[in-house]
Amino acid sequence: MSAEACAVMPAQKPQLLGLNRQSLEFLLAGWGESPFRAKQILQWIHGRQITDFAEMSNISKALRARLSEETQYAEPEILADQLAADGTRKWLLGLPDGNAIETVFIPEEDRGTLCVSSQVGCSLACSFCATGAQGLNRNLDTHEIIAQIRTARQIQGLDAITNIVFMGMGEPLLNLRQVLPALDLLRDDFAYGFGPKRITVSTAGVVPGLDRLGAESPVNLAISLHASRDEVRDVLVPVNRHYPLAELLDACRRYPLLPRRRITFEYVMLDGVNDSDADARALLRILSGIPAMVNLIPFNSFPGSDYKRSPQKRIDAFRDIILRGDVMTVTRRPRGDDIAAACGQLAGQVRDGRRSIPLRVQA
Ligand code: SAH
Repeated sequence: MSAEACAVMPAQKPQLLGLNRQSLEFLLAGWGESPFRAKQILQWIHGRQITDFAEMSNISKALRARLSEETQYAEPEILADQLAADGTRKWLLGLPDGNAIETVFIPEEDRGTLCVSSQVGCSLACSFCATGAQGLNRNLDTHEIIAQIRTARQIQGLDAITNIVFMGMGEPLLNLRQVLPALDLLRDDFAYGFGPKRITVSTAGVVPGLDRLGAESPVNLAISLHASRDEVRDVLVPVNRHYPLAELLDACRRYPLLPRRRITFEYVMLDGVNDSDADARALLRILSGIPAMVNLIPFNSFPGSDYKRSPQKRIDAFRDIILRGDVMTVTRRPRGDDIAAACGQLAGQVRDGRRSIPLRVQA
């Protein structure tokens, strides 16, 4: 498009729910408003989830009018709402372009965890993952990430969510441009106010993204490791061909961990593929020197998958080897598998998925 054509195109109105404090201050400054209004607005729209501008009593009428005229305020449509026998709840959220993503609420005795999606589908094609089988349609916008938290809070109550995990559909480190402002909002006391220890970003191992996340918004980190040898990981998590284990583990060693925190290493237990005693010992070897905790995930099957879950005895034996090596290990209880809400079962509705593994993270 030529510069002239650009100049006459009306600029898209910004999505109000996707503006972090800095962007909101910038917008307000352009309107001649004081930056502290940004905190008030964040408190209304995120903290209290007030959607009617008329209720924002400490904001002038003129500013309210301008906000409603010059910003957009999109909320997703709940296309499905499923409750599992164990209390896990899954929403299918429809987006205006016809795609749909999934968000999962996992209640536990002492916490409520929300598992959010960062992309429509995923480009990384991990061979044991339902989302990976669909390919990628597009990145989610910041406001679409935030909308998942809003929807869950509207339904479950404003205080029901204590933890956020980026373990839904997509690879968060391939969408940092939208994920980082979402993290800002989640952490901002005037918006959602989650402490950084209550937020976990999980990655299949996009090394440049790890460095950037650590530099810009260090939160808890989970690595989808799943294998301790490159030959096996190349097949299970194909992005390993770009960022092999040695590079990934070096990036983990550099990651600025929050005080007294460990990196979680997720390891899906696949019968006969990665679950031998030798695999467990190799895992201990590669994790040595990293403050690590291993999370064993019994494989959750989905339509079209060929893998089988390791037998419970095998999972226990594997766990015991890791424990004897003095590395903390827990076996993740599959949650919501009766409604396909467990790890790796999220499919949503992805239009025209593509399956190329991008070499670079977005700037
Ligand atoms: N792309 C990011 C975020 C997804 S997190 C990442 O890979 O970390 C989802 C977690 O569930 C990842 O650890 C993933 O490897 C795991 N997973 C995927 N498919 C699974 C399946 N079928 N059974 C059990 N875990 C699975």
